[in-house]
Amino acid sequence: SREEEMVRLEHTYAEELLGCYVSWHPVHVVKPVLLQLNYPLARQLGFAVDNVDSSRWAAIFSGNAQLPGCFPLAQAYAGHQFGVFSPTLGDGRALLLGEIVDRLARRYDIALKGSGPTPFSRGGDGRAAIGPVLREYLIGEAMHALGIPTTRALAAVGTGTIVYRDTPLPGAVLTRVAASHLRIGTFEFFAARGEFDQVQKLADYAIRRHDSELFNHPDRYVEWLRAIADRQAQLIAQWMHVGFVHGVMNTDNVTISGETIDYGPCAFMETHDPQAVFSSIDHQGRYAYGNQPRIAQWNFLRLAETVLPLIAEHDPGRSLSRVVDIIEAFPARYEIHWLSIARDKLGLITNEPDDGILARDWIVLLEESAVDHTLAWRRLADAAEGNEQSLASLFVTTTKLSRWLGRWRERSRRDPTRVLTQAERMRRVNPLYIPRNYQVEEALTAATVHADLQPFERLLEVLAHPFEERADSASYAEPAPAEATACYKTF
Ligand code: AMP
Ligand code: MG
Ligand code: MG
Repeated sequence: SREEEMVRLEHTYAEELLGCYVSWHPVHVVKPVLLQLNYPLARQLGFAVDNVDSSRWAAIFSGNAQLPGCFPLAQAYAGHQFGVFSPTLGDGRALLLGEIVDRLARRYDIALKGSGPTPFSRGGDGRAAIGPVLREYLIGEAMHALGIPTTRALAAVGTGTIVYRDTPLPGAVLTRVAASHLRIGTFEFFAARGEFDQVQKLADYAIRRHDSELFNHPDRYVEWLRAIADRQAQLIAQWMHVGFVHGVMNTDNVTISGETIDYGPCAFMETHDPQAVFSSIDHQGRYAYGNQPRIAQWNFLRLAETVLPLIAEHDPGRSLSRVVDIIEAFPARYEIHWLSIARDKLGLITNEPDDGILARDWIVLLEESAVDHTLAWRRLADAAEGNEQSLASLFVTTTKLSRWLGRWRERSRRDPTRVLTQAERMRRVNPLYIPRNYQVEEALTAATVHADLQPFERLLEVLAHPFEERADSASYAEPAPAEATACYKTF
């Protein structure tokens, strides 16, 4: 039967968090067409991908047909958007269908995005256009392949209906898989209303779902905050090391799980530049590449504020000072994660006190020389094999580079040898292929204007193996031609 072919959805959020959502239904889609199905992810979640045809998937992942146990709902949340508090955001164009527990007992949310207006839509149409849907699909999968925690796309379905943005565009629905959709903004929604019972229920739910080992800790809310701060610090360190610029680090776009979420105007930086901004609406550069660590701390502080009343109830003086310590330690936690990744990328094995200076001087060199972030790191592996030419060719002048390489070589000589050479180890952590903006745009334009998904699928395939150099994919490692970089903007 169909039930046996499919997974059955569960509903811990709906059952345990009454008042945190509105039950709602996706709008009927006139002509659902399956654009993309993530087969490995679908298998992991227990979907019978080999027995079911694409029209059935299109019906399910457009919202037309219901999965067994489906109970769609729109989640309530608030958020600080560009520093300004908005008390009522919520799922304006998304619906949580339910949860799936995979074979390794990991619980995932399954949600639609672009499935029609909800009580939270505030005048928006509740829809999504094919371009942004495929962009979220592609960047999420690229992040996943890079080893960075992220929500993922399970499917993209064309709706056959036009959505109106600046121009008419083909509509689409994305199915998103997340460790959960709990956001900092979810806590802010109830804290702003003074509903601390709900904040506590949410916090307890979040702890059981993401930090269950802390549930019986005598100071569980403090320890939970510490765990979240650490995940955020690590996540942002990972972003920084691949040149990822999220673009809208509003608190409604920050998860409690530590996964990257809501790929809107995000982009990967090519030329190393702390001021890199791609979002057309980020006029002040609040969410520029180099600002992301301190924005993450600012966002974390917004979460801490929402649970302070719960923490203060027990042991006001001591608990509060521990929360302040966690907030103040955020930059140091970030530095620890950043340096740990930097060591791997530099091909270093042991820890020495001056490694941080060596790593930061490398970044300063990339910035001063305005070189391609990804290629500089990748070609440093060539230099580890004695071939400096590929790396040096990125630089206009090489005096400073040679001096830095000398320091790095001397440092590397003090490390023990391993089965894998230094260059081999470096190529496992320094990607060759990242989603370069001009290539992403080309693929999305082909899909949007010509209904041609081939460039998208080819790019997706390359980005699924970012560390493996392939002779047939050389062009995907190329930086954008000069005219394409000049005014690149994302929406
Ligand atoms: P974002 O900054 O894109 O994550 O979205 C901020 C808020 O706007 C969220 O509450 C979204 O659900 C809502 N939103 C974004 N686009 C639409 C849309 N087309 N229709 C309704 N709500 C939307
Ligand atoms: Mg969002
Ligand atoms: Mg959004």
